[in-house]
Amino acid sequence: MGLEEADGRRYMRPVMTQHFRIRLPDGSVREVAPGTTPADVAAAIGPGLAKAALAARVNGELRDLNRPLEGDSELALITARDEAEALELVRHDYAHILAEAVQNLFPGTQITFGPATDDGFYYDFAPAPGRGPFTEEDLPAIEEEMRRIIGRDEPLVREVWTREDVRRLFLDQGESFKAEWVMELPADETITMYRSGEWIDLCRGPHLASTGKVDPQAFRLTRVSGAYWRGDQKNAMLSRIYGTGWLNKKQLDAHLVRLEEAAKRDHRRIGQDMDLFHLQAEAHGSVFWHPKGYMIWRELEAYMRRRIDAAGYREVKTPQIMNARQWEQSGHWGKYRENMFVIPDEVPNTDEEGPVISGDADWMALKPMNCPAHILIFRQGIKSYRDLPLRLYENGSCHRNEPHGALHGLMRVRQFTQDDGHVFCTEGQVVDEVRMFCALADRIYRDLGFEGYSVKLALRPEKRFGTDEMWEQAEAELREAVAAAGLATPEYGWEELPGEGAFYAPKLEWHLTDAIGRTWQVGTIQSDRVLPDRLDASYVGEDGERHRPVMLHRAVFGSYERFIGMLIEHHAGRLPAWLAPVQAVVATIVSDADDYAREVAAKLAAAGLRVEADVRNEKINYKVREHSLAKVPNLLVVGKREAEEGTVALRPLGEGARQEVLGLDEAVARLVAEATPPDLR
Ligand SMILES: [Zn+2]
Ligand SMILES: [Zn+2]
Repeated sequence: MGLEEADGRRYMRPVMTQHFRIRLPDGSVREVAPGTTPADVAAAIGPGLAKAALAARVNGELRDLNRPLEGDSELALITARDEAEALELVRHDYAHILAEAVQNLFPGTQITFGPATDDGFYYDFAPAPGRGPFTEEDLPAIEEEMRRIIGRDEPLVREVWTREDVRRLFLDQGESFKAEWVMELPADETITMYRSGEWIDLCRGPHLASTGKVDPQAFRLTRVSGAYWRGDQKNAMLSRIYGTGWLNKKQLDAHLVRLEEAAKRDHRRIGQDMDLFHLQAEAHGSVFWHPKGYMIWRELEAYMRRRIDAAGYREVKTPQIMNARQWEQSGHWGKYRENMFVIPDEVPNTDEEGPVISGDADWMALKPMNCPAHILIFRQGIKSYRDLPLRLYENGSCHRNEPHGALHGLMRVRQFTQDDGHVFCTEGQVVDEVRMFCALADRIYRDLGFEGYSVKLALRPEKRFGTDEMWEQAEAELREAVAAAGLATPEYGWEELPGEGAFYAPKLEWHLTDAIGRTWQVGTIQSDRVLPDRLDASYVGEDGERHRPVMLHRAVFGSYERFIGMLIEHHAGRLPAWLAPVQAVVATIVSDADDYAREVAAKLAAAGLRVEADVRNEKINYKVREHSLAKVPNLLVVGKREAEEGTVALRPLGEGARQEVLGLDEAVARLVAEATPPDLR
């Protein structure tokens, strides 16, 4: 039927049978009728694909299989082969299923958020009034209920709702957290709910087509913890249930083995066995290093100093506390204030006025980073192009006020020491400096026993300082330097990460692979033109004019604390001899050999080794067990015969290590060679 216009002319309605053109990844084009879904397209291609398809990428956006196509589109079907995307989808589904299971079993529980994580998912719940937080004892029943929901294979249906309807529904259901959240979604956002049977949740999606699409044997609930609503300590405490989720059981099993292996290597446990350090509530997130732990630190620091000196850096030390105005100028006050420890400049007169700080006291802050202080050093005296590159280095102790719940052993702390360097250079020197840093980082990681790492370039984020032109140049320079260093290859996992740069600079990241295949982001170099500008650093160029230097922020370890934690886990405590806190123990079999044991220990000590004599009246097997638990790399066993013959029975740490009888001088030479740091060999 036509439409009547005022002038009486007839217009045809848009033709309802007009088809959409769907272009597939292989370049082929299909014409489909409006209302067609990606699932229909998959089915038209073949029953295998229809079964394997998990979701669709439509014009770059990940979507539900059953959401109708809205026009001409680029379409790619996502299957388990697209592992990263498939895992994310599956984990998101598990999170929903977890929430539904919990609400089925514990009526009155409120739901909040439940995202996918790196190895699974979690969901935050507000337990029903009167009921305490969830505990690990609750997990088996919840897992069982999840399997029941998966078995039911309920379709997961996307529905578009109005904000007000969502709010009313959640208020009716007593879901105050969700009701609060929906009102804060951006006004232009399409609000979607996902329904599985009776159960419904506010969610952006996408999801798999039904609950039965996930493998009931490929997930495991792992632990519970507390979490604040929207991560803010001022808000209600929620109960978080974590799970690990995979595409199939084989993947889950492999992951559980990795977890077990990781638990054995946990640096907190090994740190205790080896008496390296401890943490306690009086100093949340700050480490008490014991003599043996600090010995590792000292060796590492001495090693780093030698490498840094040889690479042309000059070591500095800058103030721990600076006036807040300085941090304001550098831009940190605005971005980081919440994570900074702030203290008044003036001590109140507590005798007369009590602990009151005057309203006009100046505020100081513990430094959260060293960069501004290094610029202040650079700014002393006029710099010319002849002074560049100027490479400053500091073992810089920083503080960041992280929430207690986020702290984790040595891996996440509030006081940490960065191996922090800043290279001030001209535009023309950037590529060379970055290339040299790549070589330095490579040398250090290999010296410390890491064989593999990957290099990634984090590109400009959405919110950033500086012009597009500046970013273009900074990114291009980093690319060029990495290529020149030979690292821009698949072997080095070379990858560019759009949007992940710092707000002031693109950055190269080094991700180390440890002995059990985990990766750790450690080193970085960032090419910054913003901070020198904000803090007015300049040099006089060849042309006699003032120019801004480029500032390269760089670190190889990141922080000593975390790096040592990682070294402990990578080596499972069996550090290379040059880093071991105790490099050898001389243990007696019988008390007749006590004097000889002391003589051997003295000789090793004189050769520069860290050695202890164990002349306790204990069985040798007991001693062996104890020193292997403490991961002492070499045990020198001495009895009557060794004392008479001037030999030692050398027993290196580790399964299958063979005991070998050596003359004392030969043993000393061997241990000295082994204990020499790699850069001094
Ligand atoms: Zn969802
Ligand atoms: Zn810096």
